[in-house]
Amino acid sequence: MIKTDVVVIGAGIVGASAAWHLADQGIDAVLVEREHPASGPTGTSSAVSHLFYTEPELSLLARRGCELLKAVPEITGHPDPVFHDVGMLWACGENNEAIWRKSATRIRDEEGGGIELLTPDAVAAMAPGFNMDGIVLALWEEGYGYGDPYDATNAFAASARDKGATLKQQTRAIALETEGGRIAGVALSNGEQIAADRVICAMGPWTGPFIGEQTGVTWPVHMERHAMAVMDAGDNARGLLPFAWCDDINAHYARPEGNHNILIGTWAGGGTGVRNEDAERPDQHDDPDNFDFGSSQDESAWIAEQMLPRFPAVAELGIKPGYACIYDMSPDDLPVIDHVPGIEGLVVVAGSSGHGFKTGPAVGEEAVRLATTGSSALLESFGLSRFA
Ligand SMILES: Cc1cc2nc3c(=O)[nH]c(=O)nc-3n(C[C@H](O)[C@H](O)[C@H](O)COP(=O)(O)OP(=O)(O)OC[C@H]3O[C@@H](n4cnc5c(N)ncnc54)[C@H](O)[C@@H]3O)c2cc1C
Repeated sequence: MIKTDVVVIGAGIVGASAAWHLADQGIDAVLVEREHPASGPTGTSSAVSHLFYTEPELSLLARRGCELLKAVPEITGHPDPVFHDVGMLWACGENNEAIWRKSATRIRDEEGGGIELLTPDAVAAMAPGFNMDGIVLALWEEGYGYGDPYDATNAFAASARDKGATLKQQTRAIALETEGGRIAGVALSNGEQIAADRVICAMGPWTGPFIGEQTGVTWPVHMERHAMAVMDAGDNARGLLPFAWCDDINAHYARPEGNHNILIGTWAGGGTGVRNEDAERPDQHDDPDNFDFGSSQDESAWIAEQMLPRFPAVAELGIKPGYACIYDMSPDDLPVIDHVPGIEGLVVVAGSSGHGFKTGPAVGEEAVRLATTGSSALLESFGLSRFA
């Protein structure tokens, strides 16, 4: 029997950050990962990273998350930056203008975030080759952009290990042990038992089924497949698209990947970004190990078509093999992070709903606060009780 203070299950960006924060505070921790760090959705994340959200709780988490991502080389000793501050440009139409203007002003004036409100003329000057149809407002986030999900996650996990945490890779948590209404430990697939009176479950889409099976508590999350088109931009990806881009009117986002590729994603089929209770939920799945990880040429072409009216140069780009992974979603597209009712010491993080890379390092930090002190002001609005 191994004894530790806190077990973290899952080495995505959240679990790796949680293990790092525990180790940094001198708290003994074991990080358990069924494959390797970032082997789940984190590793396929587009990792677009920005402050803008209409929900203040989410923009505060994004702000802290990006701060930690930018600090990775300094705090973990990782040799390279894991954050590309190419800037983030947003386009907004008439329908959402009022709420976007209000939210961006809030972030700029009350939260101290660098975000600029731009006229369509100013955007046209910044984005040559982009069609301005329907754009009434744009936002520019200088200093934001996208991250390297593998490097960031591995940097946190490796540094946690250097600071004294134990990393168990290719090892699954198979059962939670409880004693008298509190968590007592975790049983692993290699036959080991870890005794701990605090456990943080950060297992992404695997969380809901595991928590349901182990505790009988239904975590309000579900899974949706999200596919990415990879467009061949020769050696001019950054010339064509020098920034990260999100278009609320035509429901797509894009960013350069190095100088050869442009990644495009869409929520045109429904789901994330729609924020509407009646919205159709696209491509739902029950099993995070059994869905189409690839993306067909037709699917990639359909994704690229969402960007085409805005950026006709897309038609000139080649299509490379696309890929897909799972969003762990909640009913309101916001994370569900809380103690499990009736089991003291067990904290669950799930339902990152497509936002979870940029917020991940902050969620890991706050999950540690929740597990070790019993509360976290930043996570207060993400509790289970909102669905009661
Ligand atoms: C295609 C795609 C694009 C995205 N784009 C963006 C974006 O642009 N910006 C953004 O902010 N977010 C984006 N996201 C969302 C973001 O990637 C996720 O919200 C985030 O990575 C979730 O991190 P996590 O640590 O919570 O979980 P995960 O990455 O799901 O990690 C969970 C880990 O738990 C492990 N695990 C599961 N079961 C067990 C077990 N029994 N025992 C041990 N380990 C276990 C898994 O192997 C996995 O490594 C995107 C997601 C996808 C799929």
